[in-house]
Amino acid sequence: MAKLQVHQFPALSDNYGFLIHDAEAGVTASIDAPEEGAVQQALADTGWSLTHILTTHHHADHTQANAPLKAATGCMIVGPKPEASKVPGIDLALGEGETFDFGGHIAQVLETPGHTLGHIVYHFADDGICFAGDTLFPLGCGRVFEGTMDQMWSSMEKMAALPPETVVYSAHEYTQANAAFAVTAEPDNAALKARAAEIEKLRANGTPTVPTTMALEMETNPFIRAGSAARFAEVRTAKDNF
Ligand code: ZN
Ligand code: FE
Repeated sequence: MAKLQVHQFPALSDNYGFLIHDAEAGVTASIDAPEEGAVQQALADTGWSLTHILTTHHHADHTQANAPLKAATGCMIVGPKPEASKVPGIDLALGEGETFDFGGHIAQVLETPGHTLGHIVYHFADDGICFAGDTLFPLGCGRVFEGTMDQMWSSMEKMAALPPETVVYSAHEYTQANAAFAVTAEPDNAALKARAAEIEKLRANGTPTVPTTMALEMETNPFIRAGSAARFAEVRTAKDNF
């Protein structure tokens, strides 16, 4: 089976939208639905027809286009079981360890509470890709809004268990600000220093820093590298006040 095609595009002020597509199966999913116009434009640009929305969490910048896109296309909406009641138009709710067969590509659902209580990520193991929503960002992680620091640390550990070669698609371009903080959290990390310099160049050209890989994050991301829930809480709190 051919690997999933991924089309990445900017939406709202700093979100990324993603379409994933398998031509043979005739399926196209939008990972989250930040903005109807941006998703419709991406569909027009690719020529793909929307069949699914895969929701990571309930925040408006991830779900506000669910209803209009469903009305326009009749697509099926999949989302997180623990916060299903907050996801507009949801048809199928999935929780930890459950899978979703997307045109023969199996998405494994991992619950990653912390940013919201019901946040999930979609890991397509055979395709080597993971859609991380607002759980893990390049050099960062989501703010802990609804869950506890302990929960978010457990979610970091869950992400850390993904294969290192996994390509991780995060939902925002926050990397430059994350890098500025990260080098203060780990001043002696040479790989991080080099990456921060690289990110400066990429952003100066307007180049996206998403996707990343688990291997790169394990080397340079001070949140997933924290090593304990207590240290994670310290780092997360320091970033909130940075
Ligand atoms: Zn969010
Ligand atoms: Fe978000």
